[in-house]
Amino acid sequence: MTKRLVVIGAGTGGLMVSNHVARQLSKEIEHGEASVTLVGDRDEYLYQPGLLYVAFGLMRPRELIRKVQGLLVPGVHFIHERAERIDPEGRYVLTSGGRRLDYDYLVVATGSDLDLDEIPGLKEGAHWFYTLDGALRLQDALQDFRGGHLVMAMGLPHKCPVAPLEFAFMFDEWARERGIRDKTDIIYTFPINRAHSIENVGIWAAEEFQKREITLETFFNMESVDPVKQEIASLEGSILNYDLLVVIPPHKGDRVGMESGLTDGGTWLSTDRHTLQVGQYDNIFVVGDAANLPVSKAGSVAHFEADGLAENLVNLQTGGRAVHRYDGRAFCFIEAGLDKATYVTFDYINPPTLTPPTQGVHWFKQAYNRIHWMNLKAII
Ligand SMILES: Cc1cc2nc3c(=O)[nH]c(=O)nc-3n(C[C@H](O)[C@H](O)[C@H](O)COP(=O)(O)OP(=O)(O)OC[C@H]3O[C@@H](n4cnc5c(N)ncnc54)[C@H](O)[C@@H]3O)c2cc1C
Repeated sequence: MTKRLVVIGAGTGGLMVSNHVARQLSKEIEHGEASVTLVGDRDEYLYQPGLLYVAFGLMRPRELIRKVQGLLVPGVHFIHERAERIDPEGRYVLTSGGRRLDYDYLVVATGSDLDLDEIPGLKEGAHWFYTLDGALRLQDALQDFRGGHLVMAMGLPHKCPVAPLEFAFMFDEWARERGIRDKTDIIYTFPINRAHSIENVGIWAAEEFQKREITLETFFNMESVDPVKQEIASLEGSILNYDLLVVIPPHKGDRVGMESGLTDGGTWLSTDRHTLQVGQYDNIFVVGDAANLPVSKAGSVAHFEADGLAENLVNLQTGGRAVHRYDGRAFCFIEAGLDKATYVTFDYINPPTLTPPTQGVHWFKQAYNRIHWMNLKAII
């Protein structure tokens, strides 16, 4: 009988799992003993880390976008529809196109999305680089910026927790290059009592801020934005004037998990930190941002999770055991300006340590930005 794997979400994690499994089960797929179906509501893949560079005009949108179909290895069947409902007892998925997809194993890789409605005035008054439209709008705003107050504010949780730091460091150097840094105040706010949710990164960032004369305001949880007065207010009672407001909006998970009873009450899926199993269902797994795990929502996390999970799925579909366990591993490059970068790597047990930024790491990140497509195809 055919063993059917269904994967929801044609983003980083979904493509990696689908391709990895299809590669390994190519013979079984050819003989009709296994199938891999990928359901995605978008037929184009966007390489999100590139959006940071789009904001500064350093990458073009077309460098970041590829058709999903072109990123699949033979054996993956792509359905361009939305997964509307998962029935974990009946073991099927219902799609926006009216299909019922029965599965033996299901992987949910629906990612995370911006919740722009949570903060009044945010949509009207703020800029962000977490969507392509937003990054292009911010690029225009930067071109028009002649100095003043740049205020940055963060909602939690958000994906790529180091991206706002990267923006601040890049902006600092960009403003120096343009000769407007002496007319510009950079105010970096953060919701908790340090500059980053990971302690070591927070300590390092606070030191960098001091060197670069970037003001840090902690305990700043966004409450509302007044686009007319150009003010942002925090729940803690602070009000900051801005000429340019760059925010990382709070994120939420896709509603399909919650509406299918697979979340912890909110929108993130209830996930085992090692097996990536969802709730009590031993045939449903998560990769990437959609999980409620205590790890960064990052492409590297989706990658490490996908590697082990795909191995487990191949074992399970061929009569073996799920032996791979995810250890919380994450890897993040951190741009520390326009031509230097550092990186952090950590897991559930070992916190990150930081090394001084170098040009070599910056160029390594630039190279990765151009070859990650191979990663999606499970080639590297
Ligand atoms: C500006 C920026 C910079 C970043 N920089 C880095 C970085 O330097 N390093 C790093 O590791 N990470 C970085 N990230 C984060 C990284 O892009 C994400 O963490 C990663 O893409 C998560 O992968 P995912 O598979 O969980 O979700 P995604 O890649 O977002 O894919 C989810 C997919 O599921 C689809 N979907 C959702 N719901 C449904 C549904 N019901 N039915 C069908 N399809 C659905 C979505 O449309 C999407 O295509 C960055 C992100 C941003 C925005």
